[in-house]
Amino acid sequence: MTVKTRFAPSPTGYLHVGGARTALYSWLFAKSQGGEFVLRIEDTDLERNSQEAVDAILEGMKWLGMEWDEGPYFQSKRFDRYNEVIEKLLAEDKAYKCYAPKELLEEIRAEQEANKEMPRYDANHPKIVAANAAAKEGDPCVVRFRNPKQGSVVFDDQIRGRIEISNEQMDDLIIRRTDGAPTYNFVVVVDDWDMGITHVVRGEDHINNTPRQINIYEALGAPVPTFAHCAMILGDDGAKLSKRHGAVSVMQYRDEGYLPNALNNYLVRLGWSHGDQEIFSQEEMIELFSLNAISKSASAFNTEKLLWLNNHYIKTSEPEYVAKHLQWHLDQQNLNVENGPALTEVIKLVGERCNTLIELAEQIRYFYEDFSEFEAGAAKKHLRGVAKQPLELALAKAEALQDWTTDSIKQGVIAAVCEELEIGMGKIGMPLRVAVTGGGQSPSVDAVMELVGKERVIARIKMALEFIAEREANA
Ligand code: GLU
Repeated sequence: MTVKTRFAPSPTGYLHVGGARTALYSWLFAKSQGGEFVLRIEDTDLERNSQEAVDAILEGMKWLGMEWDEGPYFQSKRFDRYNEVIEKLLAEDKAYKCYAPKELLEEIRAEQEANKEMPRYDANHPKIVAANAAAKEGDPCVVRFRNPKQGSVVFDDQIRGRIEISNEQMDDLIIRRTDGAPTYNFVVVVDDWDMGITHVVRGEDHINNTPRQINIYEALGAPVPTFAHCAMILGDDGAKLSKRHGAVSVMQYRDEGYLPNALNNYLVRLGWSHGDQEIFSQEEMIELFSLNAISKSASAFNTEKLLWLNNHYIKTSEPEYVAKHLQWHLDQQNLNVENGPALTEVIKLVGERCNTLIELAEQIRYFYEDFSEFEAGAAKKHLRGVAKQPLELALAKAEALQDWTTDSIKQGVIAAVCEELEIGMGKIGMPLRVAVTGGGQSPSVDAVMELVGKERVIARIKMALEFIAEREANA
């Protein structure tokens, strides 16, 4: 049997991290079993759904790299099929029409509550029987599923274990409303059946629906899939994760400078573990993933850890991969990297110092753009009279240097200046850094100089010398 899983979001908003984690677990399980993954958009609630939300979900899935093998299917395009199945259930008397108006049901409910009975729909209630007897073909009605009256539904949830619910606790579910719209619990079953879904991985907010759905599978003679219900994600304060904890939408993580690999790694560990391993390549996740290693208890979101992972992935991913995702931030920050060193080389040098791609984009500007001012604090401290002679000598040596590589810059410029002037490294290193980068913080200055390029380095040392001269003149 080929394993087939699905992610079935309702397009009521963006793809949030909870949904993304469910999708990831579902996707990973399919991949780990050599199976297939289906994307289905549950857009039957026309009032709450929007095309924008559909687009946002697809964008989030693509950004995370969760390719689907089939779909996206849209429930809104499958109404004929749902009606066909409803007619079949009606014909087999596994479903029936109920004409009792809403007001009557509310009245009965109020009576039940007043009598301290459990409020429930009872097809045998005399008032309901009477309403149905009085109805004519064509009157407004709902279709209800004839839920078994005896016994119980038992299933082995892959995460939560064995679950048993007595049929007495379930009433006859409406499967088609008066307006003709089929309902969620019914269409999910028809879809999962038609699409050959073998494993349903979803949030535990659906766990109460599962027994109802299992009864419908059985009435249809459809194979019942295996279920896995994932616990919730909480914010770092223990409350259900929501907007006030910061980013919740997957695309907002892109905007805040995260790599999709880092977010995927973070999400997979948020509720699933393999020993105490923290870092998982995509191949490893696929190889090691299993449903029963998903935690039963809720997991708390931890932004610090996500940042740590993001730094790890910026540092260790192929620079081409980082470059591809950095591009969006470069566009946001209006930085054109066509005139200057290869972006991948700059990433290799600067990446490890950054926790986010926003920081990375901010920290590489001087490789590509000249600046007209030095950062005030760094200039005040390092572009002083004492730096004049070392910088002048460094300028001469740089101008004379033929082989413009990190090593020869280190030997032929920096070490040579230290030796000739008998000064320590700091006396030339820091002034050079401020001259070349405009600020006091950068990776190793020789490597930076190589990438910034000889011409720009020379112009910037001259600018630093002018700055010192001006400062001395004003002193
Ligand atoms: N459409 C449902 C939701 O977004 C998911 C249904 C399911 O996975 O069975 O919550």
